Amino acid sequence: MFTVRCDSCGFKFYASRRPKTIKNVINAWGGTCPKCMSPLSPKPIKIFLKIENGKRQEVWGEFLV
Ligand SMILES: [Zn+2]
Repeated sequence: MFTVRCDSCGFKFYASRRPKTIKNVINAWGGTCPKCMSPLSPKPIKIFLKIENGKRQEVWGEFLV
């Protein structure tokens, strides 16, 4: 599962088996977090990857738009 969360409040912007670019996720929400109203800037943000292939693996990573 590919998950993108708000760095401020943890709101889940996107969750799917298919990875999506951060820019597309930000654009889909209009550039603002609907929960904490913080602007989503196109800078490296933290995302949370959970890969389920027999073993669960949780990785924090920073992705540049
Ligand atoms: Zn937020």
